[in-house]
Amino acid sequence: MPFCPECGGEMKHDSYFRRYICKSCGLSLTSQEIMELRDKMRQDTRDDDDKRKKKRKEYLDWWFSKKE
Ligand SMILES: [Zn+2]
Repeated sequence: MPFCPECGGEMKHDSYFRRYICKSCGLSLTSQEIMELRDKMRQDTRDDDDKRKKKRKEYLDWWFSKKE
């Protein structure tokens, strides 16, 4: 059972529409769309990590340069 990429709620398969419908927020997606969104979210998380690492590095550079 897939989980909603929007709210993390449980999704129920609707055999008539051939889509998954979120029980929590009502979002309806095909399994293809769910996979695409999941990939996109994984990409976003990776970007966030890189940004955070970069920020930390910038801080360290500043801190070391100040010390010298
Ligand atoms: Zn949802």
